[in-house]
Amino acid sequence: MKANYQNDGLLIVVSGPSGVGKGTVCAALREKKTDLTYSVSATTRQPREGEEHGVNYFFETETSFKKMIQNEELIEWAQYVGNYYGTPRRFVEDTLRSGKDVLLEIDVQGAQQVKQRFSNGIFIFLLPPSIDDLRERIVGRGSETEASIHNRLGAATDEFKHVQYYDYVVINDRVEAACERIDAIITAEHCKKDRI
Ligand code: 5GP
Repeated sequence: MKANYQNDGLLIVVSGPSGVGKGTVCAALREKKTDLTYSVSATTRQPREGEEHGVNYFFETETSFKKMIQNEELIEWAQYVGNYYGTPRRFVEDTLRSGKDVLLEIDVQGAQQVKQRFSNGIFIFLLPPSIDDLRERIVGRGSETEASIHNRLGAATDEFKHVQYYDYVVINDRVEAACERIDAIITAEHCKKDRI
């Protein structure tokens, strides 16, 4: 048992197929759990309407993103339907070291890399109630072209196969319910005897 019961924060990784509602669930979770620190990712994709640099993403050029990879500034990175996405290393490591929990909302390729580097992370796979539901969500977003919808659905089929590598599965039937389940998982993880 540690003398002062202090620990690094928990690294919580929420992943799953595009369109499953990771963004919405994580936004609700952040509102509910203000002690959770969200890691803002870097990406080369164009901002959607209303998205802000430094809030939703750090919007980078391909050149600057590749420089981040070269300089090992990213914990993980992946190419997803033609764009790069990655998690800034320094912020995550400093925040964990300060004892705060960090939330990553990333795709399955990135989650696999994080698992290799942070074996004690908590890996949560978000599932849609059905494939039809997933299609409706991607189409309903309204910001995707036909080609992008097709690519994202194709990617989702592969992404489902990754579920076996996760610690927990949460079905996103209702945002509030999914959020409560993740909250319960985090609470349980904090109570694990090997954390004290
Ligand atoms: P979107 O373009 O819809 O914002 O994100 C596309 C996919 O990239 C989603 O599955 C999202 O979770 C994922 N993503 C966002 N940030 C990162 C990141 O830093 N790393 C990885 N590997 N995936 C990310």
